Amino acid sequence: MGEKRMTPNEKVAYLKGLMAGLKLEDSTDDTAKVLKGIIDVLGDLAQEIDDVADYVDELDEEVAELGEIVDRIDDDLYDDDDDDDDDFFEDFDEDSEYYEVVCPKCGDSVCVSEEILLEGSIECPNCQKLLEFDFSTLTADDINDSDDEDSED
Ligand SMILES: [Zn+2]
Repeated sequence: MGEKRMTPNEKVAYLKGLMAGLKLEDSTDDTAKVLKGIIDVLGDLAQEIDDVADYVDELDEEVAELGEIVDRIDDDLYDDDDDDDDDFFEDFDEDSEYYEVVCPKCGDSVCVSEEILLEGSIECPNCQKLLEFDFSTLTADDINDSDDEDSED
């Protein structure tokens, strides 16, 4: 006899079928009442187990989703740490604010801290052109059009 694996719900349904076959449904016999009562309780328990199993499945999915989100956040947080060994910007203090300035001479972009910006000028690390910051009119264009004070003629 092939014994298939049944869920608690299916087993209870099977027992109910047997009960029906015994024609004890309407019996007033105490034994029949006890049997009926036991099967009813089993039915309730089986249903609750089913509900709990569904709930566990849902939680499982949610936990998996949360795990993926945490992984993504993790990646974002630690992405930058991987390649900063020889990074030009590695000495910069993370608490300060930085501005990107494009050198008008060589086109290199230079990361400038707020302090340097306040000092008013910095040498381009690539071509050594003096980049000056004029706060009254400071814009990206302004730096590009900066006057020819160090032009050689
Ligand atoms: Zn330059």
